Amino acid sequence: MHRFAKLDRQFVWHPFTQMRHWLKREPIVIMSGQGAVLRDVRGQEYLDANSSIWTNLHGHNHPKLNAAIQRQLRKIAHSSALGLANEPASLLAQELVEAANSRSRRRQEADLKSSAESASSRRRLQKVFFSDDGSTAVEVALKLAYEFTRRARSVCVPPAAATKPQPRFLSLEGAYHGDTVGAVALGHIDLFHKAYSGLLFKTDKVMSPYCYRCPFNKAKPERADAREYRKCNWECVALVEKKFAAQKQRGNPYAAFVFEPLIQGAAGMIPQPSGWLRQVTDLARHNGALLVADEVMTGFGRTGVAANVSSRMALQHKDRPRSHERGYGRLFACHHEGVQPDFLCLAKGLTGGYLPMAATLTTNKVFDVFLGEYNEFKTFFHGHSFTGNQLGASAAMASLEILQSATSIQARQQLERTLGKELQTLWPLPNVGDIRQVGLVVGVELVRNWRTRAPFDLRARAGIRVCEMMAQLGVLTRPIGNVIVLMPPYCTTGTQAKQMVAALGEAVKKVIGVSRWQANR
Ligand SMILES: *Cc1c(COP(=O)(O)O)cnc(C)c1O
Repeated sequence: MHRFAKLDRQFVWHPFTQMRHWLKREPIVIMSGQGAVLRDVRGQEYLDANSSIWTNLHGHNHPKLNAAIQRQLRKIAHSSALGLANEPASLLAQELVEAANSRSRRRQEADLKSSAESASSRRRLQKVFFSDDGSTAVEVALKLAYEFTRRARSVCVPPAAATKPQPRFLSLEGAYHGDTVGAVALGHIDLFHKAYSGLLFKTDKVMSPYCYRCPFNKAKPERADAREYRKCNWECVALVEKKFAAQKQRGNPYAAFVFEPLIQGAAGMIPQPSGWLRQVTDLARHNGALLVADEVMTGFGRTGVAANVSSRMALQHKDRPRSHERGYGRLFACHHEGVQPDFLCLAKGLTGGYLPMAATLTTNKVFDVFLGEYNEFKTFFHGHSFTGNQLGASAAMASLEILQSATSIQARQQLERTLGKELQTLWPLPNVGDIRQVGLVVGVELVRNWRTRAPFDLRARAGIRVCEMMAQLGVLTRPIGNVIVLMPPYCTTGTQAKQMVAALGEAVKKVIGVSRWQANR
């Protein structure tokens, strides 16, 4: 066993990992990377098919990112944001504000004409609070939204009302917003979160549109993305409406609605049918809730250059909201449906996946509530040691520059098409139940039998085994339960994308195709 592997096994505790299982094998030890390729200590090469857990955008060892960090390193690596400003963080804040409000002018004018959208089109994200990772980006939004609501409400409720209800949050079924305690409270994955319930505050959840397993979807399984052939009446949206109404009736309307736009990641790569986001965020707005968009995974072009248009869907549902044509070349998933949130949480891809850095963007309306004289103590009492880190900010600036280049936009469009085409080759596999693609995010849900959608028992570790086999075939990714994730770096070539999909198909055949699981059908 390699020395580093031995040291790892002796001393390192890995995240989200059953260490007993880990300790049974020699781990892959990564030594270097180039583009979409990772290389281990033995010189074995792998394709990084989940962009190093959804963080990497432009590939490893990118000359522009490397140069930006090196340039900054010659000046300084880090100085505190407590009491001090710095060059790259101030430049990055300006860039992020620009990007976060960059819906096209044509779009904004169109929105202004339609009265329902006029309010949201005037909503601008103006302030950037830096932190270190996705969990803290969400934690910051949570605290700000809580305090904003509390203060806004204390103006209209007499202080005598001692039992003033606490601002309450609504998020989606299966939601994952990070692992710090506040972020966990917003999450609804029992497997991860139940153990800590004693540490958490109460939040509510509402149905998310999981078309493939939706009880309201009356369509029989087809060999296509379930969103396209679904038969329903948007019951999921009606449930959101009901939830808001019920909470209002209790005299404590929701303070904020927290969501991942277009696709929920850790929930199992659950994509939203076109128009869902627009409808539910309109409902949230109508009920006075703040919108907290967690774009930790979906941000920075992940969900595609153009709106995820499903032509079949558009034909079938002519009466549906006009979201299909919305947005093009947008960096954020929200903008694909013309939604402008009050909070935008960013991390993973912010630095191109190079360094741990996060940002929470919000409006002047929120910012202003924290203004006051020193002795009023309205300060936002929150911050991290590495807030506004210079190396991270420099990498982020370079990443944003790459993202705006025509070459990057074309490459992403091409990669999205190639993936879409290659994924079609997986439909003949009887254990592939659903293939879901939103831009450059793919989830392939494995089932015991596609005709019944019968799932594998998690204990059978179907997803894990398929990914282990894919690693043997030279493609690295991690499953979410029985969903295999493909989320390639944007620099992935057509040939590499093909290899990724082919390895997935091959692994499914090898691991499940002939095994005892079939006997369970
Ligand atoms: C990964 C993720 C987080 C947490 O980010 P960390 O950097 O791992 O703390 C939060 N929200 C979403 C949607 C994520 O995908």
